[in-house]
Amino acid sequence: MAYKAPRGTFDILPEDWPYWNFVISKARELSALYGYEEIETPIFESTNLFVRGVGEGTDIVEKEMYSFQDKGKADLTLRPEFTAGVMRAYVEHGMHTRPQPVKLFSLGPLFRYERPQAGRFREFHQFNVEAIGSQDPALDFEVMSLAWQFLEELGFRGLSFQVNSTGCPECRPKYVEALKEYYYAHYDEICEDDKRRLGRNPLRVLDCKNPQCQPIIAGAPKIADFLCDECAAHFATLRRYLDAAGRRYTVNHRLVRGLDYYTKTVFEVWAEGIGAQNAVCGGGRYDGLIEEIGGPPTPGVGFAVGLERVISTLRSQGVKVPEPPPPEVFVAALGKKARDKAVPLANELRQHHVPTLLSFGKRGLKGQLRNANRAGARFALILGDDEVAAGVVTIRDMESGKQEQVKQKEIFAWLEARAQPARGR
Ligand SMILES: [Zn+2]
Ligand SMILES: [Zn+2]
Repeated sequence: MAYKAPRGTFDILPEDWPYWNFVISKARELSALYGYEEIETPIFESTNLFVRGVGEGTDIVEKEMYSFQDKGKADLTLRPEFTAGVMRAYVEHGMHTRPQPVKLFSLGPLFRYERPQAGRFREFHQFNVEAIGSQDPALDFEVMSLAWQFLEELGFRGLSFQVNSTGCPECRPKYVEALKEYYYAHYDEICEDDKRRLGRNPLRVLDCKNPQCQPIIAGAPKIADFLCDECAAHFATLRRYLDAAGRRYTVNHRLVRGLDYYTKTVFEVWAEGIGAQNAVCGGGRYDGLIEEIGGPPTPGVGFAVGLERVISTLRSQGVKVPEPPPPEVFVAALGKKARDKAVPLANELRQHHVPTLLSFGKRGLKGQLRNANRAGARFALILGDDEVAAGVVTIRDMESGKQEQVKQKEIFAWLEARAQPARGR
């Protein structure tokens, strides 16, 4: 075959949709429960929005954006994440005049030019949550709780938080200095990547996966020892809420984000049994972001969950999801006269909201019934020349194989008398 889906992309086939629908409806249900409203932003935005909002020096901006110039010479980029676009919308629509915090969620595709590997795609999907306009640590706790409950109700087990405070523009620079000093003292022992990171994005050294760097990371100064009073109090309050809720968490000193507008809380949700990389969800606070993209100083906190990861986990763990209800009726016809009756009959059934499939083309009765069976239809309505002449249909119960003849005028009453609540819901 000549064409294939582009590398790193995939089709969501009909048999996949029960999983996608399950996850998407759970996201909507819990967002409503927590008072978050849906927002959809454009799939592409000004390239500069992401350069500012995601940050120069990040892998996303440096290597992974799908950027292009359109025919009007505008520099555009397919969104690589949700947050920057949502913040742009908050500023553009003057949402600071609404009651704060403004609590928003989004679902949809994102695009990054990544090296395709298991579980990583160039077009992928996220459930993204943002709460904008409050510095209250109760809001950090709220978004974390929403992430947790979402994963828990999808069937994830062994959940725990990794949590840290990444400080603020007041206290973090002192930490960065101490970290750099420590790393330069170990310069001969660290990897080449870290040597580069030290210049541009020093906090990223804590993220290094290189085995030779692990003992260096373990001995590195911890940001917790450098937090200013405000950041320390914020973190202590958040931990108190986590304790009170009985949430399992670990303070992970390595969990940081390298950019200035990420402040205070940073967290991941880990789950059991999903392979080497345990994080299914990541988020945090970004009190400097809206200012960075040209808005008024506005705090915010949020998270994102990758849906591909969630769905592949549900499938591998055999979690049962609701299937769409099968058709009630399959209309089978033999011969031209019968067909001329069957087409309007199927149409009428649908007008009465009876889920109906019609057999197409020329097929023997056996073949048509096989299709009815495959579709999971409850009844087959069979029309042949005899039935047409007598003004009846033969109705076959597909499960028991019992058949009876019903007058065409009485079909609806017959079906209604046997109506059952939709299955599979
Ligand atoms: Zn601080
Ligand atoms: Zn390293």
